[in-house]
Amino acid sequence: MINYREVSLWKDVKPKEWNDWHWQLANRITDIDTLSQVIALTPEEKKALNDDLLELRMAITPYYATLMDPNDINCPIRMQAVPTSAERDTAEEDFHDPLAEDRYAPVPGFVHRYPDRGILLVTDQCSMYCRFCTRRRFAGEIDRPKSREEMQAAIDYIEKTEALRDILITGGDPLTIEDNNLEWLLRSLRRIPHVEIIRIGTRVPAVMPQRITGTRVPAVMPQRITRSLVSMLRQFHPLWINVHFNHPKEITPYSTRALNMLADAGIPLGNQSVLLRGINDCPYIFKELFHKLLVNRVRPYYIYQCDLSRGISHFRTSVGKGIEIIEALRGHTTGMAVPTFVIDAPGGGGKIPVMPNYVLAQGERRIVLRNFEGTITVYTEPENAGSHCHGCKEICMRQSVSSGGGVSELLEGSRLQLEPQELKREERRHQWMEEKAQPQNTPDAQRPIPAGKDK
Ligand code: SF4
Repeated sequence: MINYREVSLWKDVKPKEWNDWHWQLANRITDIDTLSQVIALTPEEKKALNDDLLELRMAITPYYATLMDPNDINCPIRMQAVPTSAERDTAEEDFHDPLAEDRYAPVPGFVHRYPDRGILLVTDQCSMYCRFCTRRRFAGEIDRPKSREEMQAAIDYIEKTEALRDILITGGDPLTIEDNNLEWLLRSLRRIPHVEIIRIGTRVPAVMPQRITGTRVPAVMPQRITRSLVSMLRQFHPLWINVHFNHPKEITPYSTRALNMLADAGIPLGNQSVLLRGINDCPYIFKELFHKLLVNRVRPYYIYQCDLSRGISHFRTSVGKGIEIIEALRGHTTGMAVPTFVIDAPGGGGKIPVMPNYVLAQGERRIVLRNFEGTITVYTEPENAGSHCHGCKEICMRQSVSSGGGVSELLEGSRLQLEPQELKREERRHQWMEEKAQPQNTPDAQRPIPAGKDK
């Protein structure tokens, strides 16, 4: 991290301005000339920046820019922030909307994919546009928050959908919205009795921690300091925040202070990282990052395999790399530092955990396991291992109503099978049924279905 006063561009900026998130947002680096004053750009980077074909705009907070190595094109911070022409490449497997969020949006700005929770997209603005962003189809499109009127339709949908008990506020970055609008949104959600949990997903502590650490003096009432963001947030517990750090270089005295302020406000913190080629695809980088996060009371929650969004294939690693990282963490450090490695299923199937295989064999009563050292061991199950759950009928009834179905229904015996919607044999069966329903006036129509055709 360099001292911002050493950069000629900011040599006259006062600490009060530097620590003001409005100043950071208003002075984001968005053009090649300004960026050239902070880092030495390569011809390739200049070409990409001159290129109008970039789907995702560039915007880098001055704070995040001071974390970049001015002379190293492989700097992991710079690679997350500065566009390259590789973003113009489209791989065959790329999608515009890999997680099919638009398909599962009952109203604009709300994604309802899981049974009891939903995603509220409140802005397309971010303080820094990450070059690997999975929502690049709309992130930064207009670079501003939604109005209250635009958010109201989603709030109405949440209100009338009683199954929704957990709402994730995201975007864009919801912490780029002004306090009064964020407070209005949180209050609107808290008024809904079935919304038990509110979560905020944000990259602000990593890229613009001043949003959390700074206090603001409104121009109309200079004599009164507004409450800090954390004082406002703590009114809406249970409120959880998922932050987004990808590299240990993002943990600085500024981000540390921001995380500690959130934790001191009683907000449980989790971290979501994206596995990125050339940036963090190494077990030691993740181990150091996760140790630093735990010291700051942030629990590593997910590592995401990079999604199949268009223009980010150069950031993708093999899935094996993620499994290798988990292998290097589990048992080698505290379980608190081991997140779940997931692939967010293309097409909207949700997060699928992927991990090393610890079960080597399974018999009638014995399960053979291996640990992180390679020690092979056996666990013997009880003779009568059947579950004898009594006395929880009320809970069972309540929970089964909101169940999302799936494989767990096969395990509890309430279903015999799960079938894909588009089975060829089902298509044939429907066709036969339709044919049978037709007036049967030709001799051919009387013929029985040939044996074997019902398979
Ligand atoms: S902060 Fe999140 S939504 Fe914004 S650009 Fe980065 S990854 Fe995308």
